[in-house]
Amino acid sequence: MKSYRKELWFETSCRRELINITPQVAVCLRESGIKDGMLLCNAMHITASVFINDDESGLHQDFEIWLEGLAPEKPYSRYHHNGYEDNADAHLKRTIMGREVVVAVTDGKLDLGPWEQIFYGEFDGKRKKRVLVKIIGG
Ligand code: ZN
Repeated sequence: MKSYRKELWFETSCRRELINITPQVAVCLRESGIKDGMLLCNAMHITASVFINDDESGLHQDFEIWLEGLAPEKPYSRYHHNGYEDNADAHLKRTIMGREVVVAVTDGKLDLGPWEQIFYGEFDGKRKKRVLVKIIGG
């Protein structure tokens, strides 16, 4: 069995941003040489997510509005967590959007559904943060 590990780094210019990382993950899979197995991709920070959904800008606006409705960024004083930090909303957004995805690897390709794309969801950006890609198989 082969094993591959890589960290992808991101630094967004906005506090919140959704980035389609499917191309970078596909490069990892190519580098691994693994043809059949499983790929794990997870955010290494508790204020960011990795999730799978559609790369459609209207939907991305809907995510922003939905998440702001559930856990608005402001006022910062509404959260117990916000004392030295102001990112309680980002922790909550990360929790609902998820930590990781697992994708099957078949014939050396990401075995995704027709509209499935892998996203990095940043909820407290403007600093360097990491995503882990781990692939096992043969
Ligand atoms: Zn925090």
